[in-house]
Amino acid sequence: MKQSYLESHPDEKGFFGKYGGSFIPPVLEGPFAEITKAYKELKNSPAFIEELKYVRKHYQGRPTPISFAKNLTEHCGGAKIYLKREDLNHSGAHKLNHCMAEVILAKHLGKKKVIAETGAGQHGVALATAAAYFGLECEIHMGEVDIQKEHPNVVRMKILGANVIPATHGLKTLKEAVDSAFESYVPQADTAIYCIGSVVGPHPFPMMVRDFQSVIGFEAKEQFFEHEDRLPDNIVACVGGGSNAMGIFSAFIDDKEVNLYGVEPMGRGEKLGDHSATLTYGSEGVMHGFNSIMLKDANGEPAPVYSIGSGIDYPSVGPEQAYLKEIGRTKVGLSNDEEAVDAFYKLSQLEGIIPALESAHAVAYAMKLARELPKDKTILVNLSGRGDKDIDFVVENYPIPNAKF
Ligand SMILES: *Cc1c(COP(=O)(O)O)cnc(C)c1O
Repeated sequence: MKQSYLESHPDEKGFFGKYGGSFIPPVLEGPFAEITKAYKELKNSPAFIEELKYVRKHYQGRPTPISFAKNLTEHCGGAKIYLKREDLNHSGAHKLNHCMAEVILAKHLGKKKVIAETGAGQHGVALATAAAYFGLECEIHMGEVDIQKEHPNVVRMKILGANVIPATHGLKTLKEAVDSAFESYVPQADTAIYCIGSVVGPHPFPMMVRDFQSVIGFEAKEQFFEHEDRLPDNIVACVGGGSNAMGIFSAFIDDKEVNLYGVEPMGRGEKLGDHSATLTYGSEGVMHGFNSIMLKDANGEPAPVYSIGSGIDYPSVGPEQAYLKEIGRTKVGLSNDEEAVDAFYKLSQLEGIIPALESAHAVAYAMKLARELPKDKTILVNLSGRGDKDIDFVVENYPIPNAKF
């Protein structure tokens, strides 16, 4: 029998075509090999699967529903728009799908502590939540600049019991937080585990996080049949590192008739530094321990990136996203700040759902697609998170529209 796409990707060394792999200093090879080995054993262990199912159902709030966005569909006047409601996960986004699983893995390995970096603080909050639930210590590294910018998430992490360590060198943002987390992890690898926040980083993380997130797609496939009695014609998800997109895509990769769109942020324009559209404008390069497509500056270093969605401004992208685009299985969509804010308000006022600004990029692209497609076509959007975290920023910078759409 022919192997499914998921069974046959990545290869043994963690490559999706030429992308992925593991480019790490020798001191990290041992600890990462231990994680790979543990994951391979655990992923088929009935006890592990049972425990994960239990927490997803009784703590996290899965399955999350699929909602038909009737009013938004009528507003756009074309294809039907459906939403996979990852905003309804405990803590407000899809990130808990892999954080809970990573912490269960840590527990099975007998570890006492989880260590990670965070950019905007979303991954830090999700990991701190999972660590609190399972009674593990949590150490989060965050750039000093981000600590100033993302104050509410820093407070949340501390309330949840995490130790937030500022990265004080260089530009004091995400890259420095990664360096700081790796540095702290090496001498603690016997008792701690490193937990990444997306389908990025060295092998096995892109594979492992994809597998943990794939629950989104497998649920959605069944649920969509309840609505339409067939597969969706199009699936749309925003892409930062690519975990919510891989989560929903993974169940449909072998279904060639389903179009898969990963939406990148065009920010304020095409100039380097004004967007974070890595797959669109980037080129091949190694960063944070894996080979992928990245946005580079004149010196070949990771370029500054920007998006109104603070969880999708990353200068690289998960290797599997790069691969699927290269083989033509996925397409890239683009939404800019303005379009995302418009979708943010439209979804709020037409459907009663305030989306995360990251997810609003996917909604905005789905709205464009819906207008171009006939009424008998369908679009399933992965609504990766809720927008409570974004409300103050949005209303301060973009007045609430008072016209009824
Ligand atoms: C972190 C985050 C993202 C971006 O991460 P991916 O790995 O690309 O999914 C998107 N949406 C929300 C709500 C997030 O918190």
